[in-house]
Amino acid sequence: CGIVGYVGLPSVGEHQALDVVMEGLRRLEYRGYDSAGVAIVADGDIEMRKKAGKLANLAGEIEHHPLKDSLTGIGHTRWATHGGPTDANAHPHLADGDKLAVIHNGIIENFAEIKKSLLEKGHTFKSETDTEVAAVLLGDIYNGAGNKDLTKSMQLASQQLEGAFTLLAIHADQPGVVVAARRNSPLVVGLGEGENFLGSDVSGFIDFTRRAVELGQDQIVTITPETHTITDFFGNPASGKEFTVDWDA
Ligand code: GLU
Repeated sequence: CGIVGYVGLPSVGEHQALDVVMEGLRRLEYRGYDSAGVAIVADGDIEMRKKAGKLANLAGEIEHHPLKDSLTGIGHTRWATHGGPTDANAHPHLADGDKLAVIHNGIIENFAEIKKSLLEKGHTFKSETDTEVAAVLLGDIYNGAGNKDLTKSMQLASQQLEGAFTLLAIHADQPGVVVAARRNSPLVVGLGEGENFLGSDVSGFIDFTRRAVELGQDQIVTITPETHTITDFFGNPASGKEFTVDWDA
């Protein structure tokens, strides 16, 4: 339902990924949701907190179990379509031995057949969501021969996924990188100075920047603190539509 991503340089200073992501999720609350969650990259691990119910539940969980400092993070508010609104079905979903975290807006229509082939390969699942299937597929591809490239893995996974999706992924081994894909579901990049943002709409980062790039259909974007690189699902260079947000938040 609502999606936020953040990467920043240490020198940018006052921003923590968690704070940026939580602020973005608050801004996106108007869309309605039944669960919320965040994940960050810290010290070679993914740290994740997720809770059914209001953002206040998630904020309480984080207060009791604080996250480490991080400049790479993603956050999600969920409107359940596949699997009830439980903690386990909330996003993010983890894969690749809990080193990969994925959030998703939309519906993966061919999730059942992909899940079947992943189960046959020995993968296991912790939720009833279509999203976890995309996460496990991405992890499987990431670990494929000669890969370990999150952008390329997202391209290959997106080629297989049908339906509507905005997907964001972070990997424990790739601090400072968020990779995203979109098909039949919106995704906007927010451009900062030494930091970049992703949102399902500009509300996700409006407190931090008004310079934005709207992605086109079937595109992938990789953000680092100082770059945003857009391709199609086959790795060909592509570009989005730059604009400035001119309304008052
Ligand atoms: N289909 C996914 C789920 O049920 C994502 C729903 C959403 O867009 O929030 O978990």
